[in-house]
Amino acid sequence: MKIIINGIHANLRFSSAHMIPEHDSCGCIHGHSYHVDVHLEGKRSGKFGFVVDFKELKSQVKEICSQLDHKLLIPLENDSILFKSLEGSVEFNISDKEYKLPIQDCILLPIPSTSAEDLSIYFADILWDKLKEKGADISVIQICINEGIGQGACYTISHD
Ligand SMILES: [Zn+2]
Repeated sequence: MKIIINGIHANLRFSSAHMIPEHDSCGCIHGHSYHVDVHLEGKRSGKFGFVVDFKELKSQVKEICSQLDHKLLIPLENDSILFKSLEGSVEFNISDKEYKLPIQDCILLPIPSTSAEDLSIYFADILWDKLKEKGADISVIQICINEGIGQGACYTISHD
C-alpha cells in the first residue's frame, strides 16, 4: 500500500536561504519557499490498518522543516567552502568571497550541497531511520524537495 502527503496542502514547508558555491547565479545567497512531498510504501498494520499514521509522519517531517526554517542552510561537506570558524559566528570563504554570519542565523548540515537534490537525500535518510526506529514496515520512501512550485528533486530509498 502506498500513502502520499502533498507538502503544499499538508503544510510541510520551510523558507530558507542558501547558495550553491561557484554557480553563476545560484552562488549568491538567495531564498526559497520549499515544500516537501512524501511518498511511502509499506505494509498496513496495527489496530487501524495504517501504513504509517499521517499525523505521526507529518509531525516528523515538520520537525525537520522547522530546524531549517528561517535559516541560512550551510553544507559542511562542500569542497568549495573554506571554514574558518563554527563557534559564535560562522566564518568561511568561497573563492574570494568572505562570509561572517551569526551562528543562530545558520543551520550547519552534514551534506555536500544544499541543492534540492542533496536536501531530498538528507530528509529521506532521517525519515527512513525514524520510521524504522518506530517499527514501521516500510519498503519505499520517496522525498521530493520543491524549491517553490514547479521545480523539485525526488530521492527514493527502497529496501525489501
Ligand atoms: Zn536556490
